[in-house]
Amino acid sequence: MITVFSNTFNNKQFSQKEYYKFLNSINPKTIPCPCCSKTDTLIRYGYYPKTIITGRLTIVVEIARFFCNQCKRTHAIIPSNLLPYFQLSVPTIEIILTHELDSTLLTDIDESTYIRIKIRFNDYESVRHLSYLERLNYFILSTKRNIYHSAITSPT
Ligand SMILES: [Zn+2]
Repeated sequence: MITVFSNTFNNKQFSQKEYYKFLNSINPKTIPCPCCSKTDTLIRYGYYPKTIITGRLTIVVEIARFFCNQCKRTHAIIPSNLLPYFQLSVPTIEIILTHELDSTLLTDIDESTYIRIKIRFNDYESVRHLSYLERLNYFILSTKRNIYHSAITSPT
């Protein structure tokens, strides 16, 4: 899984169109492979469906997979407003962390998910005042232990 920093989706409804826009804005040739660290090795290798809970809507987005022609592994590329192995987008997680369970903004979220997110990011209060980019960094770092291979790069 490769997370590419992108703050273009802040407060926006995520969609397949937004994902394609993100994908077109990055150059895979400049992204180092998380396994072998080489650049200019990633080639497009199909898509897989990822369920994303975004605000009041649950959608399925086709996420691009890349194949490294050096180490022969595949990696999905996701923007930093999505977390690896999380269905909730970062803006949705932030709504949970800053609202009560009965908030009308949380119609798609059940109680167990709400509690799980509150516990998972229980130190969020300490970064709440930071910029969106810094908060993205916090989320990526605090979920990193769940990622077997990960890399954080900037879009060119
Ligand atoms: Zn590789």
